[in-house]
Amino acid sequence: MSDGTVSPAALVARAARRGVCTLALTDHDDTAGLAEAAAAAQEHGIRLINGVEISVTWQAHTIHVVGLGIDPDHPLLQDGLAATRSGRIDRAKRMALAFDGLGIHGTFDGAAALAGNPRMISRTHFARYLCDTGKVKNVKDAFRHWLGAGRPCNVEQEWARLSDAVSWINASGGVAVIAHPARYALDGPQLRALLAEFVDLGGAAIEVVAGSQQPGQHAVFARHARAFGLAASCGSDFHSPLESRDLGGLSPLPAACEPVWHRLGLD
Ligand code: AMP
Ligand code: MN
Repeated sequence: MSDGTVSPAALVARAARRGVCTLALTDHDDTAGLAEAAAAAQEHGIRLINGVEISVTWQAHTIHVVGLGIDPDHPLLQDGLAATRSGRIDRAKRMALAFDGLGIHGTFDGAAALAGNPRMISRTHFARYLCDTGKVKNVKDAFRHWLGAGRPCNVEQEWARLSDAVSWINASGGVAVIAHPARYALDGPQLRALLAEFVDLGGAAIEVVAGSQQPGQHAVFARHARAFGLAASCGSDFHSPLESRDLGGLSPLPAACEPVWHRLGLD
């Protein structure tokens, strides 16, 4: 429902076909796909965990915090997500101005058309538009040149506070997980500061295995998990068959990690 190219029902069907038995749907800042996913999960005999991925600003870095096992109807969570979504259109207009400044025009309309739902317009839609119009050869290159951290069209945006995101997730009965830790431009001391604060706030887990992460990095994050008493999660970060590593293809969690699903009461 945010920036994936596959509908929630088709995503669940794809996961089932690929041998996944437990799946979390974690749209950015939105839970609107969970009902459709739940119906599909029942049909395909797959266990669905209600999830969300909240955009957070922590010390000027954008960090993603996944909530697993949330109650999507919880009012505190819903109000927080609505507030987090509310800045996206204005941000997209500022991004389009930055592209105009580089002589690349029409990006707002192009990205909005791809988003379908303009309140969920994201950097991914800009990247796909640039790809479709031949400005770059793939989505990754669009992030590398323009949209990634520190690049010229990644305009500043104040997302939710870390403390708020964790409290919304916890209030709704979920567990909070630091998503794809390798993707942030944090050095060792900054990452440890983030994890220490996250634990203090009631955060529960970190993605030790992530689709956007090299297998060689898993051991590093497994050590961080153990050092901070965090459980370990695995996230495909699947957005599209053309752009992502596929569902069901992740490495197993390294031994000696506590699986995050234990914290959800699942084996
Ligand atoms: P936004 O919430 O608008 O900032 O966009 C976040 C989306 O950008 C997520 O779906 C990410 O998967 C995607 N993204 C961020 N960095 C990269 C990157 N370097 N390559 C590809 N996709 C990225
Ligand atoms: Mn993310």
